[in-house]
Amino acid sequence: MVNSYRTCQRCKKIYTYMGNPLCPSCVKQLDEDFQKIKKYLYENPGAGVEEVSEKTEVEVKTVLHFLREGRLEMKNADGMLLCTKCGVPITKGTMCPACMSGMVRTLESTLPKPEPKKQHSRLDAMSAKSKLHVEINKDQK
Ligand SMILES: [Zn+2]
Ligand SMILES: [Zn+2]
Repeated sequence: MVNSYRTCQRCKKIYTYMGNPLCPSCVKQLDEDFQKIKKYLYENPGAGVEEVSEKTEVEVKTVLHFLREGRLEMKNADGMLLCTKCGVPITKGTMCPACMSGMVRTLESTLPKPEPKKQHSRLDAMSAKSKLHVEINKDQK
């Protein structure tokens, strides 16, 4: 594989790209930060983002980054991490559970339904009928 060079998103240094958006030293630094936060949250389960940041000397945005990735979870939503869709405080990830399940539903309804491609069998007639039912149900909603 040919080496390609990238600018690190965190420290802006040029590094050899190996599939990670950060340079090796930032990856190491982030991992150390992660361990610190994890340990602190383990010992102080109710701590908020700002408290964690202060006590571990890790930037607030780094703490939030781990929460968004779902690598860490707060016990209490302290208002530092908000749902990107509706803005309610959340404890991990990017969206609140309500918006998450809403997203899943939207995805499911936009997915193309698999169509069986058999010709003129009784089964086809039956599935056409049940499809009709689905359509009717949808209209009533
Ligand atoms: Zn870096
Ligand atoms: Zn939401």
